[in-house]
Amino acid sequence: MTVRGIAILGSTGSIGTTALTVLDRHRDRFRVAALTAFSNDALLAAQAARFEPGFVGLVGDAQKCGPGWSAGEGCLIEAATRDDVDIVLNAVVGSAGLGATMAALDSGKRVALANKESLVMAGDLVMEAARLGGGELVPVDSEHSAILQCLAGRPASEVRRLVLTASGGPFRDWDAGRLANATLADALRHPTWRMGRKISVDSATLANKALEVIEAHYLFGVPYDRIEVVVHPQSVVHSFVEFVDGSVLAQMGVPSMELPILYALTHPDRVADSGVPEFDPVALSPLTFEPVRRDAFPCLDLGIQAGRSGRAAPAVFNAANEQAVALFLGGTIRFADIARAVESALAQLGGLPGGTRDDILAADASARRHVQELY
Ligand code: NAD
Ligand code: MG
Repeated sequence: MTVRGIAILGSTGSIGTTALTVLDRHRDRFRVAALTAFSNDALLAAQAARFEPGFVGLVGDAQKCGPGWSAGEGCLIEAATRDDVDIVLNAVVGSAGLGATMAALDSGKRVALANKESLVMAGDLVMEAARLGGGELVPVDSEHSAILQCLAGRPASEVRRLVLTASGGPFRDWDAGRLANATLADALRHPTWRMGRKISVDSATLANKALEVIEAHYLFGVPYDRIEVVVHPQSVVHSFVEFVDGSVLAQMGVPSMELPILYALTHPDRVADSGVPEFDPVALSPLTFEPVRRDAFPCLDLGIQAGRSGRAAPAVFNAANEQAVALFLGGTIRFADIARAVESALAQLGGLPGGTRDDILAADASARRHVQELY
C-alpha cells in the first residue's frame, strides 16, 4: 500500500487536533509530512515531536519558532505545495486559508477542505483551479461529507434536492427578547459540537449554515433553489440527498468529525477505523426535525442571498461576517449586531465584481473596513 503524505494546515485547532488523533491510528496508510499553526508554538512542537514531519511552519510569530521551523504567511503555501505532500488538509479558519487552497489545487493535490471560507469567497476560481491544476476538492464539513457519500458519484441532474441538517445552535429555541441579550459565553456553548470560537459563533447565528449552502452549491453543482436547510438538534443525520425518483438517502453517525476527516483522506475508499463507536439507534433516539426560524437568524438568508447574487457578494458576506464575529469575540459588539453588520456590508458592497482573485481580495478588504467603521 502506498503511504500518502499529508500536510495539516491549522494543526493546533479543533479540526487539526482531531485529524492528528485519527492519523495516529492510521500510520500505516498516511504520513504527516507538514504541520502549520498560527501561534500555539508549544502544541505545535509537541505535534512535531510525535509525528516528525519534514516541514513545520509557525505563521504568526517568528520569535517562537523551534529549530528548523519556517515562519510567516508563506508557510501555508510552502506546506501545501511540497513534493512529499499528496493531500492537504486545510483546517485554517477564515479567509487566510484561500491562498493555500488555490496553491494546493494548482499543484494537483487533493485538498481535504475544512476551510469552507475559501470556497465561499472564491467558489468559481477554486473550482476552476481544481479543474485546471488536476487537483481534487473533497469536503471535510460533515454535511458535505454526508452528501458526497449519499451521491456516490451520481450526477447533479439526478438530484431533486440537497437537504443540509443544522443543529440549530445554542439559541435554537430562544425567543427574540432573550436572543437580544445573548452573551459571548452563551454563543460559545454549542449543544452537540466542540469547535473553534469563530465557527461556534457562526453556528449560533446560522451564518455557518449559509456558508455551507454556498459550499454545497459549488462542490456539487446544484442550484440554490434545490438546496434546503432543516433543523435537526441531535446532529446524527448529517444531511440528506433527495433524488429525482423520490428516493431519499441520508448519512448518519455520532456527532464526531473523525469520520468526515478520515473519509476525506480515503474517498472513495473506506478503511476500518477502530476509533469510531458502534452506531446505536436506540441510544441516539429520538431523531427530530423542525423548520429553521429564519426571522430569528437573519444571517442564514443574508448568506444564501449573497450566494445567489454571485460576483463578490459571497466574499463580502464572508469577510463582513468574519470581521463582525471578531468584534463580537472581542466584546465590542452584541450578538444581534453581527447580522446588522453583515446586512449593511452587503447593501453597500454586494455588487462589487468578483471575477478575479484581486477582485475577491479587494472586496474582502472593503467589507472588513466597512464593518470596522460601523463601530
Ligand atoms: P480553530 O480556531 O480551532 O483552529 C484554527 C486553526 O487555524 C489553528 O490551528 C490556528 O493556528 C490556524 N490559524 C488561524 N488563523 C490563521 C492564519 N491567519 N494563518 C494561518 N493559520 C491560522 O478552528 P476549527 O474549529 O478547527 O475550524 C477550522 C476550519 O474548519 C474552519 O474553516 C471551520 O469552519 C471548519 N470546520 C470546523 C469544524 C469543527 O468541528 N471544528 C467542522 C466543520 C468545518
Ligand atoms: Mg458543518
